[in-house]
Amino acid sequence: MRETSQPVNPALVFAVDLGGTYLRIALVDSSGKIHQQSKQRTPKGESPDCVVKALVTAAGNWKSDDGPPIVAASILVPGTVDTNNATVIQAPNLPSLTNYSLKAVLEDRLGWPVLLENDANAAAVGEMWLGAARDCRDVVSVTLGTGVGGGVILDGELWRGAHGSAGEIGHTTVDPFSGLKCKCGNVGCLELFASATAIVRMTRENLSRFPGSALNREELTAEGVYEAGRDGDALALSVFEKFGTYLGIGLANLINIFDPEIIVIAGGAVNGWSLFASYMQREVNERAVRATAQQVKIAAAQCGDNAGLLGAVRLAFDDLVR
Ligand SMILES: [Zn+2]
Repeated sequence: MRETSQPVNPALVFAVDLGGTYLRIALVDSSGKIHQQSKQRTPKGESPDCVVKALVTAAGNWKSDDGPPIVAASILVPGTVDTNNATVIQAPNLPSLTNYSLKAVLEDRLGWPVLLENDANAAAVGEMWLGAARDCRDVVSVTLGTGVGGGVILDGELWRGAHGSAGEIGHTTVDPFSGLKCKCGNVGCLELFASATAIVRMTRENLSRFPGSALNREELTAEGVYEAGRDGDALALSVFEKFGTYLGIGLANLINIFDPEIIVIAGGAVNGWSLFASYMQREVNERAVRATAQQVKIAAAQCGDNAGLLGAVRLAFDDLVR
């Protein structure tokens, strides 16, 4: 990976975050400066054509602008990408893309070299480039959103694994006896306890035990549970204790495998940091190799929603632009 002190390349990358809900596009230069940005709902359909059409239309609108040339496209997908960064192997939230050669189709339609990457992998790169993990070489990022995503960077390089699926931290097992089945087919995955979805589910399951909780009178959202916890609601506090405990178990496993300099925690659920961090740290202290646990930094992400897009741009400049 190149150093950030390199001179700014006057070209732009067309970066796309193809989320299950939103399609976000940005034109970004090699310093990380965002020149244009847009957000729309992800078009859903039986075939991937509607996604391709939306990207081609957006690119056409932006191409005609005066300004630096666009030299590559970098596309993030919420799923697994093959080791050639060419084909989507599986994307549970965008099933029409499964086994689709998105790279070849887009290169033909857009006329630029195209890179595909898993969204959570790219977020790790974005945080190392311009966020909480700047100047670090061994980084694990964990994104706590609707599910739990992960990215692993070893000695400055994104670790994709032998089959492209490294960093699936959300689907590591933390409780095989929970009886809770994950959408991946496994039982007891980390994302069943440490995601925004989990916050809502764990709250709903325990409403009857806390009849006085304000959450009995609300439509449940992760944000609402966090706000109740900030106001001292006992149910919300118990949910975040469980959340932090399971997250800490997951992080201790990562520390024992990778010995990273830093673990960056990203995603909307980070809002609850003050409510779960002490339980997370307690588990890390108890379960990770002691001398390492004391030195690993666990920090909130700094790039927000743009971590993935920025990582996509960095990867494109490193891999596609010579
Ligand atoms: Zn799973």
